[in-house]
Amino acid sequence: MKVSTKRTMKALLMQTLCFDIGGTKIQAAVIDATGTLLNQKTVPTPTSSWNHGKAALEILANDYLRLYPNIQSCGIACAGPLDTQSGKLQNPTNLNWGHAPIQEEMSKLLNIPVALENDAASAVMGEFKVGQFKGKQSLAMIALGTGLGVGIINNGKIFRTSQNQHPEIGHQILNSQALETWCACGNAGCAEGYIAGSHFLTKTRELLFQPEISMLDILKMASLQDPIVMKQFNLYSLHLAQFIYNLNLVFESQNFVLAGGFTNAASYFLDNTFSLLSKWCTERKQPVPQIALTTLSNPALYGAWALAQETITD
Ligand SMILES: [Zn+2]
Repeated sequence: MKVSTKRTMKALLMQTLCFDIGGTKIQAAVIDATGTLLNQKTVPTPTSSWNHGKAALEILANDYLRLYPNIQSCGIACAGPLDTQSGKLQNPTNLNWGHAPIQEEMSKLLNIPVALENDAASAVMGEFKVGQFKGKQSLAMIALGTGLGVGIINNGKIFRTSQNQHPEIGHQILNSQALETWCACGNAGCAEGYIAGSHFLTKTRELLFQPEISMLDILKMASLQDPIVMKQFNLYSLHLAQFIYNLNLVFESQNFVLAGGFTNAASYFLDNTFSLLSKWCTERKQPVPQIALTTLSNPALYGAWALAQETITD
Protein backbone atom coordinates (compact mmCIF):
# COMPACT_ATOMS: atom_id res chain seq x y z
CA MET A 1 0.00 0.00 0.00
CA LYS A 2 2.82 2.35 0.93
CA VAL A 3 4.65 1.55 -2.31
CA SER A 4 1.50 2.20 -4.30
CA THR A 5 0.95 5.59 -2.55
CA LYS A 6 4.56 6.52 -3.26
CA ARG A 7 4.10 5.63 -6.91
CA THR A 8 0.93 7.70 -7.10
CA MET A 9 2.71 10.68 -5.54
CA LYS A 10 5.61 10.26 -7.93
CA ALA A 11 3.24 10.07 -10.89
CA LEU A 12 1.45 13.23 -9.76
CA LEU A 13 4.72 15.15 -9.54
CA MET A 14 5.87 14.11 -13.01
CA GLN A 15 6.33 16.89 -15.49
CA THR A 16 6.81 16.64 -19.22
CA LEU A 17 8.87 18.82 -21.52
CA CYS A 18 6.98 19.34 -24.77
CA PHE A 19 8.03 20.77 -28.12
CA ASP A 20 6.03 21.69 -31.17
CA ILE A 21 8.40 22.31 -34.07
CA GLY A 22 6.95 24.03 -37.11
CA GLY A 23 8.36 25.71 -40.20
CA THR A 24 8.18 29.17 -38.59
CA LYS A 25 8.42 28.70 -34.83
CA ILE A 26 9.30 26.27 -32.08
CA GLN A 27 6.96 26.22 -29.12
CA ALA A 28 8.16 24.65 -25.90
CA ALA A 29 6.18 23.97 -22.74
CA VAL A 30 6.17 22.13 -19.46
CA ILE A 31 2.96 20.27 -18.68
CA ASP A 32 2.28 18.52 -15.38
CA ALA A 33 0.74 15.10 -14.80
CA THR A 34 -2.80 16.52 -14.66
CA GLY A 35 -2.42 18.14 -18.09
CA THR A 36 -1.93 21.66 -16.75
CA LEU A 37 0.41 23.78 -18.84
CA LEU A 38 2.91 25.37 -16.43
CA ASN A 39 5.02 27.44 -18.78
CA GLN A 40 5.30 28.07 -22.51
CA LYS A 41 7.86 29.77 -24.72
CA THR A 42 8.14 30.44 -28.44
CA VAL A 43 11.29 31.00 -30.50
CA PRO A 44 11.80 31.25 -34.28
CA THR A 45 12.70 27.95 -35.94
CA PRO A 46 16.27 27.86 -37.25
CA THR A 47 15.44 26.23 -40.57
CA SER A 48 18.98 26.37 -41.99
CA SER A 49 20.22 23.02 -40.59
CA TRP A 50 19.54 20.36 -37.98
CA ASN A 51 22.59 21.48 -35.97
CA HIS A 52 21.14 24.96 -35.60
CA GLY A 53 17.75 23.46 -34.78
CA LYS A 54 19.24 21.15 -32.18
CA ALA A 55 21.08 24.05 -30.55
CA ALA A 56 17.80 25.98 -30.20
CA LEU A 57 16.06 22.95 -28.67
CA GLU A 58 18.95 22.43 -26.27
CA ILE A 59 18.81 26.00 -24.97
CA LEU A 60 15.05 25.76 -24.37
CA ALA A 61 15.40 22.32 -22.74
CA ASN A 62 18.23 23.34 -20.41
CA ASP A 63 16.29 26.38 -19.21
CA TYR A 64 13.26 24.24 -18.41
CA LEU A 65 15.23 21.38 -16.83
CA ARG A 66 16.77 23.89 -14.42
CA LEU A 67 13.39 25.38 -13.51
CA TYR A 68 11.40 22.12 -13.38
CA PRO A 69 13.45 19.30 -11.81
CA ASN A 70 10.48 16.88 -12.02
CA ILE A 71 10.64 16.73 -15.82
CA GLN A 72 10.92 13.03 -16.57
CA SER A 73 10.00 12.74 -20.21
CA CYS A 74 9.93 14.75 -23.40
CA GLY A 75 7.42 14.77 -26.23
CA ILE A 76 8.30 16.25 -29.61
CA ALA A 77 5.67 17.14 -32.17
CA CYS A 78 7.43 18.02 -35.41
CA ALA A 79 6.50 19.01 -38.94
CA GLY A 80 6.63 15.95 -41.21
CA PRO A 81 7.41 13.80 -42.92
CA LEU A 82 9.09 11.80 -40.19
CA ASP A 83 9.30 8.18 -39.09
CA THR A 84 7.99 7.49 -35.59
CA GLN A 85 9.46 3.95 -35.63
CA SER A 86 13.08 4.99 -36.22
CA GLY A 87 12.67 8.39 -34.55
CA LYS A 88 14.17 10.12 -37.58
CA LEU A 89 13.00 13.04 -39.64
CA GLN A 90 12.48 12.44 -43.35
CA ASN A 91 13.50 15.77 -44.79
CA PRO A 92 10.45 17.74 -43.55
CA THR A 93 8.93 19.92 -46.26
CA ASN A 94 9.22 23.21 -44.35
CA LEU A 95 12.52 22.57 -42.49
CA ASN A 96 16.02 21.95 -43.85
CA TRP A 97 16.77 19.41 -41.11
CA GLY A 98 17.26 16.46 -43.46
CA HIS A 99 17.04 13.00 -41.94
CA ALA A 100 18.10 13.98 -38.42
CA PRO A 101 17.79 11.21 -35.79
CA ILE A 102 15.98 13.71 -33.58
CA GLN A 103 14.53 11.26 -31.05
CA GLU A 104 17.85 9.55 -30.28
CA GLU A 105 19.90 12.75 -30.20
CA MET A 106 17.44 14.59 -27.95
CA SER A 107 17.15 11.60 -25.62
CA LYS A 108 20.96 11.51 -25.24
CA LEU A 109 21.11 15.25 -24.74
CA LEU A 110 18.37 15.38 -22.09
CA ASN A 111 18.92 11.95 -20.55
CA ILE A 112 15.17 11.22 -20.44
CA PRO A 113 12.87 9.22 -22.73
CA VAL A 114 11.70 11.13 -25.79
CA ALA A 115 8.58 10.49 -27.88
CA LEU A 116 8.42 11.75 -31.46
CA GLU A 117 5.25 12.31 -33.42
CA ASN A 118 4.11 14.17 -36.50
CA ASP A 119 2.78 17.59 -35.42
CA ALA A 120 -0.69 17.08 -36.89
CA ALA A 121 -1.01 13.60 -35.35
CA SER A 122 0.15 15.05 -32.06
CA ALA A 123 -2.41 17.86 -32.35
CA VAL A 124 -5.31 15.49 -32.93
CA MET A 125 -4.08 13.41 -29.97
CA GLY A 126 -4.09 16.57 -27.84
CA GLU A 127 -7.70 17.24 -28.83
CA PHE A 128 -8.61 13.62 -28.14
CA LYS A 129 -7.07 13.77 -24.66
CA VAL A 130 -8.01 17.22 -23.40
CA GLY A 131 -9.87 19.18 -26.11
CA GLN A 132 -13.55 19.93 -26.69
CA PHE A 133 -14.07 16.62 -28.55
CA LYS A 134 -12.26 14.70 -25.79
CA GLY A 135 -12.78 10.97 -26.09
CA LYS A 136 -14.54 11.13 -29.49
CA GLN A 137 -13.47 7.99 -31.29
CA SER A 138 -13.48 9.64 -34.72
CA LEU A 139 -11.93 13.04 -34.95
CA ALA A 140 -9.88 15.02 -37.45
CA MET A 141 -7.55 17.96 -36.91
CA ILE A 142 -6.70 20.37 -39.70
CA ALA A 143 -3.81 22.71 -38.88
CA LEU A 144 -3.74 25.83 -41.05
CA GLY A 145 -0.30 27.37 -40.75
CA THR A 146 2.88 27.57 -42.82
CA GLY A 147 1.78 24.20 -44.21
CA LEU A 148 -1.41 22.16 -44.04
CA GLY A 149 -1.30 19.50 -41.34
CA VAL A 150 -3.93 16.81 -40.98
CA GLY A 151 -4.20 14.33 -38.14
CA ILE A 152 -6.91 11.70 -37.80
CA ILE A 153 -8.15 9.72 -34.83
CA ASN A 154 -9.95 6.75 -36.35
CA ASN A 155 -11.76 4.36 -34.00
CA GLY A 156 -9.87 5.84 -31.05
CA LYS A 157 -6.38 5.53 -32.53
CA ILE A 158 -4.02 7.74 -34.53
CA PHE A 159 -4.53 6.75 -38.15
CA ARG A 160 -1.39 5.60 -39.99
CA THR A 161 -0.79 4.28 -43.50
CA SER A 162 -0.15 0.64 -44.40
CA GLN A 163 3.58 1.49 -44.06
CA ASN A 164 2.91 2.73 -40.51
CA GLN A 165 3.53 6.32 -41.57
CA HIS A 166 1.58 9.48 -40.94
CA PRO A 167 -0.61 10.04 -44.01
CA GLU A 168 0.44 13.17 -45.90
CA ILE A 169 -3.19 14.02 -46.64
CA GLY A 170 -2.37 17.71 -47.07
CA HIS A 171 -0.53 16.91 -50.30
CA GLN A 172 -3.38 15.22 -52.14
CA ILE A 173 -3.69 16.86 -55.52
CA LEU A 174 -6.86 18.87 -56.04
CA ASN A 175 -5.94 20.27 -59.45
CA SER A 176 -2.72 19.17 -61.16
CA GLN A 177 -3.21 21.82 -63.86
CA ALA A 178 -3.04 24.70 -61.36
CA LEU A 179 0.52 25.60 -62.34
CA GLU A 180 0.28 28.87 -60.41
CA THR A 181 -0.31 26.93 -57.18
CA TRP A 182 3.02 25.28 -56.47
CA CYS A 183 3.62 23.61 -53.14
CA ALA A 184 6.94 23.03 -51.36
CA CYS A 185 6.38 19.27 -51.89
CA GLY A 186 7.15 19.80 -55.59
CA ASN A 187 3.67 19.43 -57.08
CA ALA A 188 1.19 21.92 -58.43
CA GLY A 189 -2.35 22.21 -57.17
CA CYS A 190 -2.11 20.11 -54.03
CA ALA A 191 -4.35 20.87 -51.07
CA GLU A 192 -1.56 22.58 -49.14
CA GLY A 193 -1.04 24.92 -52.10
CA TYR A 194 -4.64 26.08 -51.73
CA ILE A 195 -5.31 25.84 -48.00
CA ALA A 196 -2.08 26.62 -46.09
CA GLY A 197 -2.17 30.12 -44.61
CA SER A 198 1.19 30.98 -46.17
CA HIS A 199 -0.15 30.25 -49.66
CA PHE A 200 -3.23 32.40 -49.06
CA LEU A 201 -0.92 35.26 -48.09
CA THR A 202 1.34 34.81 -51.15
CA LYS A 203 -1.57 34.66 -53.59
CA THR A 204 -3.41 37.61 -52.06
CA ARG A 205 -0.23 39.73 -52.12
CA GLU A 206 0.11 38.97 -55.83
CA LEU A 207 -3.48 39.93 -56.59
CA LEU A 208 -3.19 43.16 -54.59
CA PHE A 209 0.20 43.99 -56.19
CA GLN A 210 1.49 44.52 -52.64
CA PRO A 211 4.33 42.01 -52.14
CA GLU A 212 5.05 43.16 -48.57
CA ILE A 213 1.53 43.52 -47.16
CA SER A 214 1.04 41.72 -43.84
CA MET A 215 -1.75 39.30 -42.98
CA LEU A 216 -2.90 41.79 -40.35
CA ASP A 217 -3.35 44.46 -43.03
CA ILE A 218 -5.15 41.97 -45.28
CA LEU A 219 -7.55 41.27 -42.40
CA LYS A 220 -8.13 45.01 -42.01
CA MET A 221 -9.02 45.14 -45.73
CA ALA A 222 -11.39 42.21 -45.20
CA SER A 223 -13.11 44.07 -42.37
CA LEU A 224 -13.80 46.84 -44.94
CA GLN A 225 -15.12 44.23 -47.40
CA ASP A 226 -12.34 44.81 -49.95
CA PRO A 227 -13.60 42.95 -53.05
CA ILE A 228 -10.25 41.32 -53.97
CA VAL A 229 -9.64 40.08 -50.42
CA MET A 230 -13.23 38.88 -49.99
CA LYS A 231 -13.04 37.00 -53.28
CA GLN A 232 -9.91 35.29 -52.00
CA PHE A 233 -11.64 34.28 -48.77
CA ASN A 234 -14.63 32.95 -50.73
CA LEU A 235 -12.32 30.84 -52.86
CA TYR A 236 -10.52 29.72 -49.72
CA SER A 237 -13.84 28.61 -48.12
CA LEU A 238 -14.64 26.61 -51.24
CA HIS A 239 -11.29 24.79 -51.22
CA LEU A 240 -11.43 24.12 -47.48
CA ALA A 241 -15.02 22.84 -47.70
CA GLN A 242 -14.05 20.49 -50.57
CA PHE A 243 -11.10 19.24 -48.58
CA ILE A 244 -13.17 18.55 -45.44
CA TYR A 245 -15.96 16.96 -47.46
CA ASN A 246 -13.50 14.56 -49.12
CA LEU A 247 -11.85 13.69 -45.80
CA ASN A 248 -15.24 13.00 -44.30
CA LEU A 249 -16.14 10.68 -47.17
CA VAL A 250 -13.09 8.55 -46.41
CA PHE A 251 -12.98 8.62 -42.62
CA GLU A 252 -16.48 9.70 -41.53
CA SER A 253 -14.64 11.71 -38.91
CA GLN A 254 -17.74 13.80 -38.12
CA ASN A 255 -15.77 16.01 -35.71
CA PHE A 256 -13.31 18.44 -37.28
CA VAL A 257 -11.11 20.78 -35.27
CA LEU A 258 -9.24 23.63 -36.95
CA ALA A 259 -6.03 25.01 -35.45
CA GLY A 260 -2.98 26.98 -36.55
CA GLY A 261 -2.20 30.66 -37.09
CA PHE A 262 -4.54 31.10 -40.06
CA THR A 263 -7.59 30.42 -37.86
CA ASN A 264 -7.18 34.09 -36.80
CA ALA A 265 -8.92 34.78 -40.12
CA ALA A 266 -11.70 32.22 -39.49
CA SER A 267 -14.46 34.84 -39.24
CA TYR A 268 -13.92 35.46 -42.97
CA PHE A 269 -14.11 31.86 -44.16
CA LEU A 270 -15.59 29.47 -41.59
CA ASP A 271 -19.32 30.23 -41.98
CA ASN A 272 -19.11 29.88 -45.75
CA THR A 273 -17.10 26.67 -45.42
CA PHE A 274 -19.76 25.20 -43.15
CA SER A 275 -22.63 26.31 -45.44
CA LEU A 276 -21.04 24.60 -48.45
CA LEU A 277 -20.32 21.47 -46.47
CA SER A 278 -23.87 21.35 -45.09
CA LYS A 279 -25.30 21.74 -48.61
CA TRP A 280 -23.21 18.92 -50.09
CA CYS A 281 -23.78 16.56 -47.14
CA THR A 282 -27.53 17.23 -47.11
CA GLU A 283 -27.77 16.58 -50.85
CA ARG A 284 -26.04 13.28 -50.35
CA LYS A 285 -28.19 12.52 -47.28
CA GLN A 286 -25.22 12.14 -44.98
CA PRO A 287 -24.81 13.74 -41.54
CA VAL A 288 -23.23 17.20 -41.52
CA PRO A 289 -19.96 17.11 -39.58
CA GLN A 290 -19.18 19.38 -36.65
CA ILE A 291 -16.44 21.94 -37.29
CA ALA A 292 -14.90 23.90 -34.42
CA LEU A 293 -11.85 26.02 -33.78
CA THR A 294 -9.55 24.56 -31.18
CA THR A 295 -9.94 25.88 -27.66
CA LEU A 296 -6.42 24.76 -26.69
CA SER A 297 -3.51 27.22 -26.85
CA ASN A 298 -1.59 24.60 -28.84
CA PRO A 299 -3.12 21.12 -29.21
CA ALA A 300 0.16 19.63 -30.54
CA LEU A 301 1.87 20.39 -27.20
CA TYR A 302 -0.85 18.46 -25.33
CA GLY A 303 -0.52 15.57 -27.77
CA ALA A 304 3.25 15.54 -27.22
CA TRP A 305 2.53 15.47 -23.47
CA ALA A 306 0.12 12.52 -23.80
CA LEU A 307 2.51 10.54 -26.03
CA ALA A 308 5.56 11.25 -23.84
CA GLN A 309 3.73 9.89 -20.81
CA GLU A 310 3.45 6.56 -22.60
CA THR A 311 7.27 6.36 -22.74
CA ILE A 312 7.51 6.30 -18.92
CA THR A 313 7.57 2.85 -17.45
CA ASP A 314 7.61 2.49 -13.70
ZN1 LIG B 1 2.10 19.56 -51.63
